[in-house]
Amino acid sequence: MSQNQDPGQSKPPHSTAAGPADLAEPPENRHVYETDEPVLYAMDGAVAVITMNRPQYANSQNTQMTYALDAAFRRAAMDDAVKVIVLQGAGKHFSAGHDIGTPGRDVNVSTPERVTLWYDHVNKPHGEFWYAREQEVYLGMCRRWRELPKPTIAMVQGACIAGGLMLAWVCDLIIAAENAYFADPVLAMNIPGVEYFAHPFELHPRVAKEFLFLGEKMPAARAYQMGMVNRIVPTEELEAQTLAVAHKLAKQPRLGLALAKQAINHVEDLQGKRTAMDAVFHMHHFAHAQNSLSSANHLGGQDSKSMAAGNRDKDGQ
Ligand code: ZN
Repeated sequence: MSQNQDPGQSKPPHSTAAGPADLAEPPENRHVYETDEPVLYAMDGAVAVITMNRPQYANSQNTQMTYALDAAFRRAAMDDAVKVIVLQGAGKHFSAGHDIGTPGRDVNVSTPERVTLWYDHVNKPHGEFWYAREQEVYLGMCRRWRELPKPTIAMVQGACIAGGLMLAWVCDLIIAAENAYFADPVLAMNIPGVEYFAHPFELHPRVAKEFLFLGEKMPAARAYQMGMVNRIVPTEELEAQTLAVAHKLAKQPRLGLALAKQAINHVEDLQGKRTAMDAVFHMHHFAHAQNSLSSANHLGGQDSKSMAAGNRDKDGQ
């Protein structure tokens, strides 16, 4: 298997030694984790601070991290001492997106402890591998985190790219450092945006088109202008200013915050956010399937290196 060939299409069902023909032999696992703690959890008074902790890989989200994030959000939701949740990335960047190329890339890992009722993906063939996986770890988890009935604040510095956007967008507030930037460059893979398709809700539709068509970096100042970001603060003050907002929120009544959050989320869904996301998730998966049929992998032959090179070209570097 070449380095960027899809694991999910390497063993078609007819090569299965035993069992029903619609199951595939699970692909081999070759990942190497650099840490046992991809997510850190700390308390600052009534504020739970959840930290993505793969700084050497710009907090790329592998399966290990998404399940650790889910556990952290669950812990914060269930703990009465937690009033507010802050999500941040360790190191220079918030998150460079889903892991499509670090040694810890673990898409082949079986995860029987599901957070949705979507079945395990690793022994499913072809498009079903990716569909079942992304229903669980991307769409399912992001929706679950968005609906957590306590206020959440994304504290964003540096890169917030593709899958990184999903994590910022599920939070109620986004506070960005001056050096923060946002991008969804997946059109280079023929894909019409990341799995949690909130683009036209986060940005004016015409700006969302520009954002997706060109895949360029949007600086924090432009994101602020669009209302995607609540506040921009000097980079060295990001933590202090975010925690100050969090502590202010922590003084507000719990039920009022939960109801106000539900109210706004409900209105967004009445405006079509949820149904739009369902529709575009299927376009996203048509693109994955087309890529798998026509190139080396479901990402149109791309991996983290080729995507990074493409982004450098776009920046004229
Ligand atoms: Zn996808």
